[in-house]
Amino acid sequence: MELPKRPLGDEYVRPGGFREICQRLAADPRMGELTAQVMYAFDRRTRLLPFLFADWRIIPAGVRAITDSLHAAGLKDSRIVFQLWSPNVKPSRSLINGKTPDILLISSMQIHALEAYKLIADACTIPEDRRPLILCGGPKSIYEPWDNFALGDRGEINADCAITGESYVLLDMLERVLAFKGPGESLRRAFLRARDSRALEDVPGLVYRVDPPGGREAHLVDTGIQRLVQYLDELPIPLAAFSRVEPPHKRETLSPRPVPKEEIYKRSRITSLIMTQGCKFRCSYCPIPAYNQNSFRFKSPERLADEMTILNQELGLRNFFGTDDNFLNRRDTVEEIVEYMSKRRIDGHRIHKKVRWATEATIHDAYKCIDLMPRMRQSGMRALWFGVEDLTGTMVKKGQAGSKTAEVFAEMNNNGLCPMPMMMHHDGQPLYTPGSLYGLVNQVRYLRKHGAISVQITVLTPAVGTNFFDKPYTDGMVFKNVAGRRVDEARFDGNHVVATNEARPWLKQWNLILGYGAFYNPLSLLGAMLMPKRRLSGADIGMQFIGMAALAKTTLDSLVWSWRLWWGPIERCTVVPGSKLPIVKARPNEIETKRPTAIPPDSLEVWQSRMKTPKPQDGIPLPILAAG
Ligand code: SF4
Repeated sequence: MELPKRPLGDEYVRPGGFREICQRLAADPRMGELTAQVMYAFDRRTRLLPFLFADWRIIPAGVRAITDSLHAAGLKDSRIVFQLWSPNVKPSRSLINGKTPDILLISSMQIHALEAYKLIADACTIPEDRRPLILCGGPKSIYEPWDNFALGDRGEINADCAITGESYVLLDMLERVLAFKGPGESLRRAFLRARDSRALEDVPGLVYRVDPPGGREAHLVDTGIQRLVQYLDELPIPLAAFSRVEPPHKRETLSPRPVPKEEIYKRSRITSLIMTQGCKFRCSYCPIPAYNQNSFRFKSPERLADEMTILNQELGLRNFFGTDDNFLNRRDTVEEIVEYMSKRRIDGHRIHKKVRWATEATIHDAYKCIDLMPRMRQSGMRALWFGVEDLTGTMVKKGQAGSKTAEVFAEMNNNGLCPMPMMMHHDGQPLYTPGSLYGLVNQVRYLRKHGAISVQITVLTPAVGTNFFDKPYTDGMVFKNVAGRRVDEARFDGNHVVATNEARPWLKQWNLILGYGAFYNPLSLLGAMLMPKRRLSGADIGMQFIGMAALAKTTLDSLVWSWRLWWGPIERCTVVPGSKLPIVKARPNEIETKRPTAIPPDSLEVWQSRMKTPKPQDGIPLPILAAG
């Protein structure tokens, strides 16, 4: 199900609240004594199109944001472990400053959840007196926090707490726990006492296990939906985390030192940046609007330019990717950002000479911002990824008609911006339809013909955190076992047919590969070489090489999966997955019920109405902030 909304007017942390909690914690000497290991779980089976190759070159933004926030709050000794780089590191063998870290944070997406469970299980082998406080976060914990508990044959493996929100929730919880920490006591002990004293129940955004005395039934306590930090300029500058990254290796223990600062640019070829969050659309398969309480949050133009400048000057980073849901969501904001950034200089050079950036948007909004494209290029933008999904609007309508898409792509090509469409292959869509745009291959060819530089194709799977999640399970669409093997979370990556009513699911799996093949192939490469695009020839040729190499690996994987689908048997789920333990809401009334569709205002309006100040871009000091 979709995440519920907080009561209208109570969706956000008070403006300035993030900075204040950082300052309070940083003033507590006990924070400076703590150590933290922040792990990003990664299941290598998901290394397929469209992220193959790029995945190795991006240090995930979530674990960096957490580490930066801890740093701003005074916790300086931390280590980020990216499991793709260091797959064998075990919490039970990790030492920071010669001792087991006080906090173990495990961040995971749904598709990497199996690896996260293994990390929790390993951490639970650490003797009680040395065991770190085991916290879980990331999309898996936001939408299915219960899966971090009651693991193992007898349910004996448990995280201590799942964080179902962002950095502020973690800091809020740590502040409560520190109030319970006695001299020489471990942070985990303090957490358990705070939990048993019910002192965590008014920290929105937590789920933790309680085993009541007297053998009464164990249950999970859910403290409700987080309050969001509304004005993203309050977050710390994303610099400190880069000096805490574990280098790639095969050992089970941590390296004596993180990646040296001067080598970061070689490892982090692409740097993800939080620029905006939220989207005004309401696609049925997308959890983003509900997660963001239907809000649109963003950083100021000055702050975005500052971040790119600092990361370029300090670490030599050049390529940025915005973790936006829909960067072009609000035209005024886009205009202000690209206007400011196109005039900004780094070391005397125009910003676009020093850095490049790309992000995600919708065709509908790109069309509304079509006149801003020259400015976008001058601001350093080089590419936009679009959730086109289906050009005919059969599956979803969000203003992505074929002619509008062609117009946007043409203008982007003229201005040196790469159009990168993302498609969804759904039940009922044929591979090819003569004379119409409905077929998958027809759409892919249309996009290529009109200037697309890359393509992503995914098969529609039940999307966690949406109202589209339950029905495929209750309708018996979702596969439980295929050819005698359980269909685990890694298979829900959009590259595997795991939910369909089609009689021949193996054929649908092949459609995916043939759709990709219609885009990435030697003929397309030849065309890109013989008739180079005026401003995008390098990107066009390069993406064909990368796409064909990644398609080779993806095809092998699809061959195996389609063979299993063909061989069968396919056993289907009959119930919606859920918690093994009962869940108790700490504050059941803290949900918007009267106006469930009420849309809160966006960042700037909230900032202005609450602070009664002029726009930040008019020259007032930004309400910031703890620098990294
Ligand atoms: S347009 Fe994209 S981000 Fe917005 S709701 Fe739809 S799928 Fe989600």
